[in-house]
Amino acid sequence: MTNSDLNDLVRLLACPDCGGDPLFSDGELRCSGCSRSYEVKDGIPLLYPKGMNREHLAEEEKLGGIMQQTEIEPGTEFSEEQWKRSKDEFWGQVRERLGGSGLKIILNVGCGIDTRALELQEMGHTLVSFDLVYSLLESLKTGHGAKHCTAGDLLHLPFKSGSFDCLCCIDLIHHEIEHTPEILATFERVLKPGGLLFLEDINAWGLFQFYKSILLPRPVHRTLRSLYHVLKGSPYRPADYEFPTSVFKTMRLLERVGFAEIDAVPQRAYPNIGGIGYRIYEVLSRVQHIKRYHNYHYMIVAVAPKTAMQR
Ligand SMILES: [Zn+2]
Repeated sequence: MTNSDLNDLVRLLACPDCGGDPLFSDGELRCSGCSRSYEVKDGIPLLYPKGMNREHLAEEEKLGGIMQQTEIEPGTEFSEEQWKRSKDEFWGQVRERLGGSGLKIILNVGCGIDTRALELQEMGHTLVSFDLVYSLLESLKTGHGAKHCTAGDLLHLPFKSGSFDCLCCIDLIHHEIEHTPEILATFERVLKPGGLLFLEDINAWGLFQFYKSILLPRPVHRTLRSLYHVLKGSPYRPADYEFPTSVFKTMRLLERVGFAEIDAVPQRAYPNIGGIGYRIYEVLSRVQHIKRYHNYHYMIVAVAPKTAMQR
């Protein structure tokens, strides 16, 4: 990381507490508004807000540790392949929409250790990787050459308003179901007018999951899901604040915060099912509606308001 990389990043940052401009000196960032100082660890600014939920951070750090284990459990190869294809579809769509558009500055919110986004950096875009968990960012940076990384809290996104041409966010908002409206409003805030949002999340209306996520009362679904992971001996324990989100509700919320041209992109890959389930999906998904609204994931593309009048 060069000093100029860090300076490029600092220009986009804002204090998570007061929104002031952080200034870089003597190896740390100091807010010009409230004077709070923030650590910069190995070139990664840690912009956690003051009243941050530490318990939540610890939970997510644990989950981050699990994400870094690359071993594939036997019997899950088919599903893993579908996960990979699902990522290919998402980033393929982003590359296609950005190619030749002149949209250059991209924020990947909740980047985890998804290295696919780095293809955008190789294409000459300025890519900022943002996550709650420092260790994931550190691994993206040292292991994969991510130039611009920032750690912080999704609910206090530490970036200046109107900074980004494009914002990508995969499988994150279901970690904060109680706060989805605020999160989407923040996405609108940090995007430039006319900027593009690419949002993917686990779909409550997925063909093989809606009977649980829609028909069962939430506490019952939650209990059954935890029990499933315990019985399976899986190291992953979903937290109470995690829950699949509805594609239809998310589209309505996006409209409410001012996004336009909101579109659900048809999805071919269907993770977390076996070969037989996938064959059923293949047949049913000849209907476009199924591909758009009833995949395991939904992917939404939307355009931020173009003028201040619309904001
Ligand atoms: Zn401040």
